[in-house]
Amino acid sequence: MEIKTFGVVGAGQMGNGIAQVAAMSGLDVIMNDIKDEFVEKGLATITKNLEKSVSKGKLPAEEKDVILRRIQNSVNLKDMAKADFVVEAATENEPVKLKIFRDLDEICDKGTILSTNTSSIPIGRIAANTNRPELVIGMHFMNPVPVMKLVEVIRGIATSEETFQTTWNLSEQFGKTPAEANDFPGFIANRILMPMINEAVFCLYHNVGKAEDIDTVMKLGMNHPMGPLALADLIGLDTCLAIMETLYDGFKDSKYRPCPLLRKYVEAGWLGRKAGKGFYSYAA
Ligand code: NAD
Repeated sequence: MEIKTFGVVGAGQMGNGIAQVAAMSGLDVIMNDIKDEFVEKGLATITKNLEKSVSKGKLPAEEKDVILRRIQNSVNLKDMAKADFVVEAATENEPVKLKIFRDLDEICDKGTILSTNTSSIPIGRIAANTNRPELVIGMHFMNPVPVMKLVEVIRGIATSEETFQTTWNLSEQFGKTPAEANDFPGFIANRILMPMINEAVFCLYHNVGKAEDIDTVMKLGMNHPMGPLALADLIGLDTCLAIMETLYDGFKDSKYRPCPLLRKYVEAGWLGRKAGKGFYSYAA
């Protein structure tokens, strides 16, 4: 199946990264969010990333403009009617995502693949909200998208082989390495990563160590490129909490209970880097 126009719903930190790699691979991209200012902010991030690549000599200056011209801004989901393939990268909130999929199912052509970048919501549950479950799949990019090589491609129970193959090929076209996962809570990446992050938050909560010391132990002791609390700030503490809730709900196993301190930070609006404050403070 040939993909020419690629739709991205949600222009936040993941959505704008996905739009960037799609445009860099030569696709026309429609980048949608609920407000102009969110789409503009996403575009500003892409522009900044590309300018950095130009200044490092990794991208010819004229190529930057060609890539940017491929991206069309949108605040109306109906624009997705033109897309051959859509990836949804909106907030990790189930009712929000289910509504987007119901709407996309109405708006998009019958053959359009509807994928989701969800970190943890079951693909089967999302697919069941459409009349095209065989065309629904997980396409889970890592943060920051332009840098990270992995795409976890998640088959829902009804996902067709053709949908899987198209998504796999598209991941490779974006210069990524895909890995296949089945549809269980957290898939592979967050089934393993998020309990580790949650345990690091428990260490802080129980005063086993200060944030800096917890991160230093994991960086220098386990050779992780960044500590789990700094990584949680990068991912977004709201997203981390949402993933833990999904694991807990999905398995009904107390080992996945979210740390109360994580919930407290989210309730306070301390969402990590994107809010300027999480386990660490970030200058505006
Ligand atoms: P974010 O908060 O940076 O961005 C989410 C964007 O979605 C916001 O701009 C918001 O305005 C927009 N949005 C909300 N409702 C919408 C709607 N109805 N239509 C269109 N846009 C809408 O969040 P993010 O970190 O980019 O996460 C997005 C998705 O990617 C989530 O499902 C998350 O679990 C997943 N994800 C995140 C990471 C990470 O490290 N942050 C990694 C992999 C996957």
